Order: sequence, then C-alpha cells, then structure tokens
Amino acid sequence: MRTPAGKECRYYFEDYYRGRQKQECRLLTQNPNSGRWKPSLCRSCPIPDIQRQNACPNLVLEARVQTSMLGMRQEVKVFAVCTRKMVEVTNPAIGCGECHLAQPVEKILKQG
Ligand code: SF4
Repeated sequence: MRTPAGKECRYYFEDYYRGRQKQECRLLTQNPNSGRWKPSLCRSCPIPDIQRQNACPNLVLEARVQTSMLGMRQEVKVFAVCTRKMVEVTNPAIGCGECHLAQPVEKILKQG
C-alpha cells in the first residue's frame, strides 16, 4: 500500500471505508517497545527503499521510533536479521550476502 509519503510499503495499512479513518504501520505495531507511530514518520523511513532493494525471504526487519537527544526530531530506526545465518544485518539494503553465494547467478537474476 502507498504510504502518506508516496512510497509503496507492505507494512502500511489504511482504511477509509464507510467513514473509518484508520492508518497504521504494522511493522512498528508489532514491536511493543517501538514508540508511537505517526504518518509523518513515513517521510524519512528507510523501510520502503529496503523492500525495493532487497527481496531476500530470509531477511527479517524490526523497527522502532527513535527520538533525537533534544526531543525535536523522530525517525524510524531499523534492525535487520538474517534468519538463515542468524546474524545481524548491518546493511539491510544489501543483506548478509550469504544467500547470494549459495544460489546460482541465473536464479538470482530470475527473482528480479
Ligand atoms: S513508518 Fe516505515 S515501515 Fe511504517 S508504514 Fe511508514 S514507511 Fe512503512
């Protein structure tokens, strides 16, 4: 679904059917310690770009809202894990690189 910031995100949900006015981030609501989501967080959130750049099925994303030290600015911080290698992925847009070594190049290209 397209976020208020105009990017596709599989975690964004909205419902305006029959007078409802519901918007939510289903990634942040999964994490009870994430902090409160608001639509403006989608503007600087890195998740839509990560989803577009890396479609690895073994990559699991977690996120939380981080407030700056002065409390003036909030942004979405991402934590990524590879469930195949069971390691933290420091650059989720690229991934841990392990699956790419295990798959033949033709299969990766076919996945798109
Ligand atoms: S905050 Fe990020 S993950 Fe959540 S709906 Fe917006 S773009 Fe998607």
